Amino acid sequence: MRFRAAVLDRVNTPLSIDTLEMAPLEPNDVLVRLHATGLCHTDLEVIQGSLVYPLPIVLGHEGAGVVEAVGAAVTAVRRGDHVVCSWNPHCGHCFYCERSLPILCEPFTRNQPRGLLLDGTTRMTRDGQQVHHYSVTSTHAEYTIVPESGAIPVPPELPFDRACIIGCGVMTGIGAVVRKAKVEPGASVAVIGCGAVGLNCIQGARLADAGRIVAVDVAVDRRERALAFGATDVVDGLAADAAEQVRTLTNGRGADYVFEAAGHKAAFRLSMEMVRPGGQVVWLGKVNVNEDVPLRWGSLMGEKRIVRSSYGDAAPRRDFPWIAREYLAGRVKLDELITRRIRLEEINSGFDDLAQGRGIRTVVEMA
Ligand SMILES: [Zn+2]
Ligand SMILES: [Zn+2]
Repeated sequence: MRFRAAVLDRVNTPLSIDTLEMAPLEPNDVLVRLHATGLCHTDLEVIQGSLVYPLPIVLGHEGAGVVEAVGAAVTAVRRGDHVVCSWNPHCGHCFYCERSLPILCEPFTRNQPRGLLLDGTTRMTRDGQQVHHYSVTSTHAEYTIVPESGAIPVPPELPFDRACIIGCGVMTGIGAVVRKAKVEPGASVAVIGCGAVGLNCIQGARLADAGRIVAVDVAVDRRERALAFGATDVVDGLAADAAEQVRTLTNGRGADYVFEAAGHKAAFRLSMEMVRPGGQVVWLGKVNVNEDVPLRWGSLMGEKRIVRSSYGDAAPRRDFPWIAREYLAGRVKLDELITRRIRLEEINSGFDDLAQGRGIRTVVEMA
């Protein structure tokens, strides 16, 4: 079958909207007709070349749509189901899957960086030439094929534009707080960086019934937005005494939990200064893989725990429907995260906004 998709052919060049050919379904494949897809910072990193993937490739890893067809061995979803794509499909029986670390699933970590599906092959071609899959999802397209473990059913009453963003930014932020750190009621939380992931850390902290939720950001508009998402206090990340302000707000000790969602050297450093002795730091952002990040040794002392997480310990089949229900019950904000809606043809202008830090999430809606 033929379908349109946004294709990256060379780094630092615009995506082109091309017609591709999809191969027939393999037994574990799910064909999804996408209705909405988000633009995430990780897609931008591939465009800009700081994340290296084989090209050409179809980017996009936040996608929602309807199951159009399933392979012969698929049992978890069927035609007509509304699904959100998970960018961490996993085999379920490798060394890491057996240890409840699907994010490290061996077929996933082997094939995903090579632009392949879990079985080490591709399904997409353009004029007979292979086109790669990004993070086993490739949602910047009218259709995608994902493995069964990457097609997650969600309630049909959830609108597609809001459904798609659950797939990465929302899951990562809420999951980091609720699943990874397991923040307990009354705990103090600081969130550094209040973009899409940071705002969802704040929502997660509210769901966890945290006490103080301190939002730290360098931009005043993002600090204001953080208050609307449930932050109880804000601190200017550029203030020389930013860590001191967090200690003042937390009985002089520092926060019980600090979430870094800025992806900046200074933010990693600050996270260690803001957490109390014995506290937990979760790093969600990233810098270039070959870059060094300076930390003050003394800030690491005191039985502190640091963990780096990519997907907030997501178990998509458990967590996507849960987040959907929390949204439908009015306890999670999704509408407010979407600051622009565009058509697939406008995707490059959406990425311009992302590169300039304009808005929170841009969603592409398919015709
Ligand atoms: Zn993402
Ligand atoms: Zn596995």
